Amino acid sequence: YFIALEGGDGSGKSTQAQALAEWIRSKGHEVVVTREPGGSAIGQRLRAMLLDVGNTGISHRAEALLYAADRAEHVDTVIRPALERGAVVITDRYLDSSVAYQGAGRDLAAAEVARISRWATDGLVPDLTVLLDLDPAVARERFTEALDRLESEPEDFHARVRAGFLALAAADPVRYLVVNAAQPPAAVSTAIRHRLDRELP
Ligand code: C5P
Repeated sequence: YFIALEGGDGSGKSTQAQALAEWIRSKGHEVVVTREPGGSAIGQRLRAMLLDVGNTGISHRAEALLYAADRAEHVDTVIRPALERGAVVITDRYLDSSVAYQGAGRDLAAAEVARISRWATDGLVPDLTVLLDLDPAVARERFTEALDRLESEPEDFHARVRAGFLALAAADPVRYLVVNAAQPPAAVSTAIRHRLDRELP
């Protein structure tokens, strides 16, 4: 079973990934928690490069391809092997982050970014994608550790990313669960567990 957590910076994805992993482990499953960018050995080098060029600039197409390269390596070396041995995989960001950030956030066509990602993942789609939806202004207030990242892009960038995620969720309500991430973390966890209770063996 493959779960992706998506959302803007400071929406609480990594906290929820840990809480969710603990809960699923308590049901007796092996759980692999991973993230993008940087979930594989090569990915860590790509992550360092991507976060660094965030300050100096990179062409938007090159940036999209580096995220796709990170994802291809992540799927091949971490995600698929774990799923094949029966583990539950939770990834903090996956292909919808590319569609939202490089597509909606930058000026690339969302459909093309999605196509590159589908090729990079060889078609591996999560069983469930949880969108932690949060107003970027609230993220800014609540998650001071995310301030650097939130402030490295203009406010309207984060608004476009949020709208991009919401559009993806609206287009695929079966795969998606949208949770209001302005709620306390425990309430967010409860909403995710409620959905998974029906689906996890
Ligand atoms: O989620 P995490 O904090 O690890 O992501 C690192 C940064 O990379 C974030 O600030 C996010 O804005 C950016 N990112 C991006 N495009 C992606 C994935 C992440 O711009 N596809």
